[in-house]
Amino acid sequence: MDKPTKIQYCEKCGTKIEKIEITHKPKPIKISTYMKDVISKLLWYTPNNKHSKQSYTEPILEDKLYEDFCFDYILNNMEVDPQNVTLIKHNKFFDNIETPYRESACRKCQVIFFQTDNDQTKTETLIRHIRNSVSHGYFNIIYGDTEKEDMFVGFDETPSGKCTAILHIQPVKLLNAIDFLTGEYPQLQEMLTAHALKKCGYKIGREEKFFDNNSCYEFDIIAEKNGKTYCFEIKDYKSKYIPQITITSQMLYYKNVSSQYNFTPVLLCDKSLLTEQTKQLLKGKNIIVLDRNCISNLLSGIDVLENISQGN
Ligand SMILES: [Zn+2]
Repeated sequence: MDKPTKIQYCEKCGTKIEKIEITHKPKPIKISTYMKDVISKLLWYTPNNKHSKQSYTEPILEDKLYEDFCFDYILNNMEVDPQNVTLIKHNKFFDNIETPYRESACRKCQVIFFQTDNDQTKTETLIRHIRNSVSHGYFNIIYGDTEKEDMFVGFDETPSGKCTAILHIQPVKLLNAIDFLTGEYPQLQEMLTAHALKKCGYKIGREEKFFDNNSCYEFDIIAEKNGKTYCFEIKDYKSKYIPQITITSQMLYYKNVSSQYNFTPVLLCDKSLLTEQTKQLLKGKNIIVLDRNCISNLLSGIDVLENISQGN
């Protein structure tokens, strides 16, 4: 008879530690229908899944520009303790630290270790490691108290056995976060822009309403820096270029209220571009238009707003 093993509890949360069984008993592994569905949905996001005509292309997950924003958002929404996340460079491996995480897992504390990839975003790489651990059969499920808390434990390694990922994650939370980022939610643009503006040193103001001649003006974001206020309206144009005529009408629309309350209106169009001609038209005017290129710059920490308002 096996010697009874001592029950261990997680140092962080006090939950009983579970032993990880990688050899599936029975084979093939029995997975709850719900978990099977969640994992297969996640795997559709695998990058370079070129053999599948059905695989998703998700520009937001693939764009290096949005990489940190997306990954931070995902970790936050998965409720992963940042201390439990370790990313290493493309050519490095997890040699020493992995042993306890290979043998046992806390049912509540998620742990993410993975090797990054120079050509893929962190989110894409995370999904690729999940895919590898599933396709190599190097995973198991520890069922939680609720489906949301079911834990996927998976490992990825090179053909020579070097460890490139250790994942103890709750896939439902991961899928929900990815679905949010890739869905057509209007708040996403707001979140991205607010995140970019904060990176450039702006204070994001409270929602405020402005009144002029019985009209009420509301904005998606209000940002302040160096005593200047910028009020953002998010616009979606279906065309490649932002139509000049709508910009001219927006200029008129905001003319009085913006001088009365001393702010600069900003139109934010992350799907379209400005033509050279429209850029010239906007020079020195009381309105700023940020097209897709400007937003890219803003996300990489270039304060395009200040540059434009200073006429650079
Ligand atoms: Zn724990």
